[in-house]
Amino acid sequence: MQRQTRQKQAIYEVIENAKRPLLANEVLGLASKSVPSLSIATVYRNLKHLLGDKRIEVVELPGQNPRYELAGMAHHHYFQCRTCDRVFEIERCPGHLQDLAPLGFQVEGHEIVLYGQCQDCCSPSSEEQTKLEPEASFNANL
Ligand SMILES: [Zn+2]
Ligand SMILES: [Zn+2]
Repeated sequence: MQRQTRQKQAIYEVIENAKRPLLANEVLGLASKSVPSLSIATVYRNLKHLLGDKRIEVVELPGQNPRYELAGMAHHHYFQCRTCDRVFEIERCPGHLQDLAPLGFQVEGHEIVLYGQCQDCCSPSSEEQTKLEPEASFNANL
């Protein structure tokens, strides 16, 4: 396989396997395992290609760097952990949000982001790890 194709494929697979939206930095960290020579510039270039091919989509949470997930996923929402900053997908949707809108307004869409502690950061053992070695708990889930 050509080098460029291999890089692009590695980046796509990282996003596919993550099952959650990834920052470019996270993509670099994970994809470097199969393509050690990868640089952040290469990651950005390939993300742009994958976006152009409509194989991935941008997830933008207010005031944060863009994250990337597979394109064409069903309607879903996000959960961001306040401790490790990772973003996870939520499949369920409360729906029926028309009731929240002022009288006479028509709701056409919504975005929901929950904030809190992820499973890793909730459990006492990994909380300890987070305090002692922030990177250990981060890498544990990659
Ligand atoms: Zn967390
Ligand atoms: Zn929804």
